[in-house]
This record gives sequence, C-alpha cells and structure tokens, in this order.
Amino acid sequence: MTTLNYIFYYIILLTPLFSSFQDRFGESRNRMVSEQIEKRGISDKDVLKAMRIVKRHLFIPQVLRNRAYNDGPVPIGYGQTISQPYIVAYMTDIIDLKPNSNVLEIGTGSGYQAAVLAEITNKVYTIEIIQELGEAAKETFKDLGYNNIESKIADGYFGWEEKGPFDAIIVTAATEFIPPPLIGQLKPGGKMVIPVGSPMQVQFLMLVEKNVQGKVKTRSLFPVRFVPFTRN
Ligand code: SAH
Repeated sequence: MTTLNYIFYYIILLTPLFSSFQDRFGESRNRMVSEQIEKRGISDKDVLKAMRIVKRHLFIPQVLRNRAYNDGPVPIGYGQTISQPYIVAYMTDIIDLKPNSNVLEIGTGSGYQAAVLAEITNKVYTIEIIQELGEAAKETFKDLGYNNIESKIADGYFGWEEKGPFDAIIVTAATEFIPPPLIGQLKPGGKMVIPVGSPMQVQFLMLVEKNVQGKVKTRSLFPVRFVPFTRN
C-alpha cells in the first residue's frame, strides 16, 4: 500500500470517531428536544429543528457542560444563567418567526437564544449589558459561524433604533415594566415576549402584540423566573 493509501484509510477509519467526539452530546440534545420540548406541546418544525441543531453545550462554561441538556437553567458566570431549554423554545415559538423576520434580543448572555433565533431567521440583533458576557458571546458567534447575528454591549432598555423596527423582540431578563422604547421599535403586526415582575416576586411571561393599526395588546402567559433586567 502506498503512503497515500494509508492516509486515506486513516481518514476513513477516524472520521466517524472525530464526528462523534465533536458532537458527543448529540443524543442528549435529541432527547432534550423530544422529552422536554415536543412532549410539552411545541410542534413548530423550525423551532424543533433549531433546538436540535444548536449545540447548547458550546454556550456553557466547560466545567458545567455535562448539565447543558438538563431540564433547567445553567449558570454562565457574572450571576447570570442560560434559560431552561423549554423556555428558550417556547419564547422562540410564540413570536412566530419567518425566514425574513428582523429580530431583536435583549440579554445576549451566553448567546444561545440568539443562535436558536439565527437558525430560523436571516438577521438577529442582540444586546448585552455586561461587557464580558457580550464579548464572549461575540467570539462564540464568530467561532460557530453565525454571521447573521449582530451584537453590541449596551443597556437594552433603549432597544436598537437604527436596526428597527422589528418583527419580533425577545427579552430574556425580567423587567419591572415593559420598556416603552421597545414597544416603539416593534413593527405593526409584530410580537414581543418579555418576563415582567420584580426579582423578589412572581414574574409573568408576557406577550405584547402590536396590530397593523399600531394598537398594543398585552397578554400574560405563565409564571417564570428570570434574572433581573439591570440598568447602568
Ligand atoms: N438569552 C441568554 C440568557 C441570559 S440571562 C442566553 O441564551 O444565554 C439574561 C441576560 O440579560 C444577562 O446576561 C444579563 O446581563 C442581561 N441583561 C440584564 N439587563 C440588561 C439590559 N438592561 N440590557 C441588556 N442586557 C441585560
């Protein structure tokens, strides 16, 4: 056998090994989707597909990666958490994304929610207030090739005027009231999902809908527990 043949054999033999190593959580992720998300009633194909594709463990600190596919939130440093997979899927589902939706997320955190959104739509904007988290997420987006995500470090209270108006806005930290600039940047026909309530009290996930005439309707969905929305 020539050297070239040897190399060829090695590649053939080792490729499956590498790919299973690269995605050693693939099975856990599929289980997460079927048991935590599908079974609880989420059926949108695009949402389920995105949740199957995005490698949640890559958004979680190395030492906690074995908890990535558990049915709960995971700490990501700086007192913040990555939301429970079901909540990520639910919030993604309720804003009815289309492939050309212009979406804004407030609270980038690890970048996981933004990546899930970016699997469904062409353009995602995301804002984080903690510099270190914002920078780390930007790196993660670059490493994973998410060039349809644009992120910045700022107080998300003010939204991202120049990039709006948005078809959908998703807020992943609990506010005491819905920031008026975010309502202003929602397109007529657009939807926003946002946890509302003070840190010590019960918070509710709210759906804010702006109809085509620009009238705003707010609906309370269910109680949740999010990290607080902070101001500089
Ligand atoms: N979507 C994130 C969840 C992060 S937790 C993920 O998928 O990992 C909520 C995040 O909101 C935290 O990182 C917190 O720092 C951030 N946050 C809180 N108040 C904010 C504000 N006013 N503007 C932007 N981000 C804010």
